[in-house]
Amino acid sequence: MNSLKNGWWSERCELWPGVCLSLEVDEVLHESKSQYQDILVLKTKNHGRALILDGIIQCTEADEFTYQEMIAFLPLCCHKSPKKVLVIGGGDGGVAREVAKHPYVESITQVEIDAEVLEVSKKYLPFMGKGLSHPKLTLHVADGFDFMAQHQEEFDVIITDSSDPVGPAVSLFQKEYFEMMRSALKPGGIVCSQSGTFYANIEQVTQTLNHCRSVFASAALAYVTVPTYPTGQIAFVLGSCDPEIKFDIPSISFTDDELEQMQLRYYSSDIHRAAFVLPRFAKKILSNE
Ligand code: SAM
Repeated sequence: MNSLKNGWWSERCELWPGVCLSLEVDEVLHESKSQYQDILVLKTKNHGRALILDGIIQCTEADEFTYQEMIAFLPLCCHKSPKKVLVIGGGDGGVAREVAKHPYVESITQVEIDAEVLEVSKKYLPFMGKGLSHPKLTLHVADGFDFMAQHQEEFDVIITDSSDPVGPAVSLFQKEYFEMMRSALKPGGIVCSQSGTFYANIEQVTQTLNHCRSVFASAALAYVTVPTYPTGQIAFVLGSCDPEIKFDIPSISFTDDELEQMQLRYYSSDIHRAAFVLPRFAKKILSNE
């Protein structure tokens, strides 16, 4: 269904029916079929390079920072001392790049199912792929669901930077996965998972939030704007076993100088607090379920 026609590539997917985003393309840099998915890298006219898996945009060079900073810094800054971090998915390297910036983080374990995505990102998307070579990172090529089942009370923060719930990522949106994440967390730990967009597919957001609510004592939804994602935004589900946690109040606030030094362009304490303020329609639907 996805197409490259007259110099424009269009993203069509049943998860967001009746709407699609198109990117004007200069060049196809890479196209392959891995064991798990179709991999495409485009050089676009106005949005830098773009990674596309199974016909769905994962990131573009122009706006990937918004997503990567928020999926990393929201849970890291909800935790008082995030030392050991687990990233599931994240094959482009952008989340590892951001997590490594947090001053308290000592080690990052990352589990990506598709070795080919890692290689393609290092070669064609070095602005993100550089995260995969960070000295704090230990990288495993494995299924994140299977990995989670084998780990107990190990991590302070678990970030699930998965593709959308099609193909190998389906299991990362199930209730059982949230139960396994709870077991893999140390006391006081936090999880954060991407959970789709509430304009195009509020059912998916609701289902993921409900899994999180049923497993954790506290759960919340936040979102970020990403112009090249379907409907321009994506939500994150956060969970913790601490019934008193206030997700919208960051436990650490960085000064403007510190944010500059860390090269954070989107995240700040103000954005952290604002990310949990939902539009009324979304709040109503999500609180009724
Ligand atoms: N920011 C992106 C988004 O929301 O569209 C996600 C980017 S990252 C490229 C997603 C990664 O999750 C892919 O590289 C994919 O191979 C990986 N992935 C999917 N299912 C997985 C699984 N079961 N275990 C580990 N990694 C998985």
